[in-house]
Amino acid sequence: MISIKNQSNIFLNETLTIKPDYLNHPFVSGNKFRKLKYNLLIAKQLNYSVLLTFGGAYSNHIAAVAAAGHEFGFKTIGVIRGDELSAKISENPTLTFAKNQGMEFYFISRETYKEKTTETFIDALKIKFGDFYLIPEGGTNNLAVKGCEEILTRDDNSFDYICCPVGTGGTISGLINSSNNSQKILGFPSLKGDFLREEIGKFAQNKHWDLIQDYHLGGYAKINTDLISFINWFKATYHIPLDPIYTGKMMFGIFDLLKQGYFPKGSKILAIHTGGLQGIEGMNKILRRKNSPIINLD
Ligand SMILES: *Cc1c(COP(=O)(O)O)cnc(C)c1O
Repeated sequence: MISIKNQSNIFLNETLTIKPDYLNHPFVSGNKFRKLKYNLLIAKQLNYSVLLTFGGAYSNHIAAVAAAGHEFGFKTIGVIRGDELSAKISENPTLTFAKNQGMEFYFISRETYKEKTTETFIDALKIKFGDFYLIPEGGTNNLAVKGCEEILTRDDNSFDYICCPVGTGGTISGLINSSNNSQKILGFPSLKGDFLREEIGKFAQNKHWDLIQDYHLGGYAKINTDLISFINWFKATYHIPLDPIYTGKMMFGIFDLLKQGYFPKGSKILAIHTGGLQGIEGMNKILRRKNSPIINLD
């Protein structure tokens, strides 16, 4: 029922190649589709008709779950952080998209959102919505990691470094598990936090990986004009769009490390483009309000 086509790598130069996983689906897209695949298969097998998940106002995961539900025949419920957003759906491109894909929202306060993984809160959700298949915030669980183990193919064996952006750590865990012993996996977290190493340790089966913590630009969804200029330059030069939350920060980091001579001469690097492009529109709305330069879409 669900198969994900592997995309051909894009060769940028002698050193750097991109795997354009953002092209794997028009809406579900990138690593979020990888992470959903086995969860959707199990949900179908167990005869669930409803998927419930959690996310913030601009979440790629919320957009992906809504689109996947629409395509694969599930009703979807999105528990959204921030009760003030219920009156602002039409101003928010991600929520508007998810709504148009049929997602039902349940807006909760930031305070209540912190309780989202507790048994009491989940039980209350079951009373409110009936039975559902629960997908965690960001989509990471064992089945998600299994899906991400399919990102690398045999043809990728010759790369020395595999780079990817990191949010919850599910994607990098899958890459680590499917890499070979002579490869090193470098994760570029899009947020601050030392908890990530431990999270990845729960899912990952070898130690050939590291996190490069220098390019989150202050935290999740924090950006600056250097990043925006870089994303626009990259698009104009290579005709590949980057999102400002994940892939933009990773690529900005890779280019900076290359400039610093971090990678040994002759290294072959594969950067995973994990998608996230739906987030550009929301970020541009915020940038326009601040009179800042925006991300060019064409
Ligand atoms: C969610 C997301 C990530 C982070 O993936 P994790 O598995 O949570 O680490 C990376 N890139 C994009 C585009 C994403 O949407």
